[in-house]
Amino acid sequence: MKKIIPICIIGILLCAEFGATALSSTDPKIISENNVGKAEYTHTVFVEVGTATWCSDCPASNTAWHSIYEGGNYNFEYTEMVVDKNTVANARRNQYNQYSFPTSYFDGGQFVYPGTSISAFQNNLNSCGSREVPDLVANLNATWLGSAKIQVDFGIINNDAVSYAGNLRVYIIELQSTQWRDYNGSWYNHAFLDFAFNQTINISVGETYSDSTVWDGATHGYPGISSENIQVILAVFDDSPHQGYSHPPSGSPFWAYYVDETIAATPQSNNTPKKPNPPSGPTSGIANVEYSYSGNTTDPNGDNIYYLFNWGDGSNSGWLGPYPSGTTVEASHVWSYGGIYNVKLKAKDTIDGPWSDPLVVQIAGPDIELQNVKGGFFKVSAEIKNTGDVAVSNVNWNITLRSGVFIGKQTSGLNLTIPANSSVTIKSGLIFGLGSTSIKVEAWIPDGPSTMIQRNGDIFLFLIKVNP
Ligand code: CA
Repeated sequence: MKKIIPICIIGILLCAEFGATALSSTDPKIISENNVGKAEYTHTVFVEVGTATWCSDCPASNTAWHSIYEGGNYNFEYTEMVVDKNTVANARRNQYNQYSFPTSYFDGGQFVYPGTSISAFQNNLNSCGSREVPDLVANLNATWLGSAKIQVDFGIINNDAVSYAGNLRVYIIELQSTQWRDYNGSWYNHAFLDFAFNQTINISVGETYSDSTVWDGATHGYPGISSENIQVILAVFDDSPHQGYSHPPSGSPFWAYYVDETIAATPQSNNTPKKPNPPSGPTSGIANVEYSYSGNTTDPNGDNIYYLFNWGDGSNSGWLGPYPSGTTVEASHVWSYGGIYNVKLKAKDTIDGPWSDPLVVQIAGPDIELQNVKGGFFKVSAEIKNTGDVAVSNVNWNITLRSGVFIGKQTSGLNLTIPANSSVTIKSGLIFGLGSTSIKVEAWIPDGPSTMIQRNGDIFLFLIKVNP
């Protein structure tokens, strides 16, 4: 019996110092990692601090948490929830039934500590860090899109033997607040701004839950934030409720959902993929034959890349991909008509990069050309020539006169067929009037080549003169 007494005394001392928080304090191993001793935890611990600008004890907590974090010896992330200034923070505080200020909530309320002692903070971190947790692996990428917009991409892999249900929260915090000072007039550190994501998740065994969202600071009242001062923290809370107290034992309990995985990231600026070289492939060919073209580029951030070929005839390949940065992509195309085409390539990650310079491709085949636009008595005529060596059909044309006082402003024709290497003359309807005009002659094949000639002319009642 005598041996029990010192244990009880130590227990009472711990309880007195840590309140209700140090019931299962442990002593995890310290490992050396890049010359920094860091506690070897089962997961990165997450701490939410309920604080307020009117609270005279809160600056000590703000300072203490900042110094532990900057010391780099404890594997955790934290945020200060300034509940009297931030309604989202206050709503979160209400889920904890916070009673006194400041109060630190470790891992979703596994431990609750209403105080400012650095050693109590550290001991609670160690206790949370030694808790056995499901085997989840989270990854997180934050991309600064400019104008206070942050794209958050994340995934959680369930490597455990059972499916996982919980709640995923993504916190946007300012490393040093530009919004709120504590009671002593110092800026808050790690001040919570808003949730970028907050919803329940279910992950089957071996599966990954992934999602992407864009958080827009401007629409949440923070248009002036800067990328280097922002941190994004992802925390996964399990769905098993544990009764917790912010003010034990008489206060109202709350349901604590423990944190099983935490990861943080700072927003990186996104650069679009580089301008590709002109596509590689044949520079000449004939219509109705398929040709392949290839190209590649890299993304400065190593992002996956989508590619788009523009075939120069009004069509494109559609976005291809995504492919890892640097991968060569290939696509093929059939031109229906002869002509000179600029084949270009561009790449995007989430934002389009620039077009490449063109590869000029000359395709032999049906093509049309306008020539010999002439005036005369009552009419304008022109020739449409098929310069290819196969017949073209479905040639449409217009002769249009603009301005002037006359009748017969437009004449059109449809579905003209022109044999190979031949011309067909087209003529306007009767033109009658007075004045100067511009004369436009157009010919085109739907989804094919088109051509146009514009001339100035004069109408002398019945004689039409077309200027060269
Ligand atoms: Ca990029």
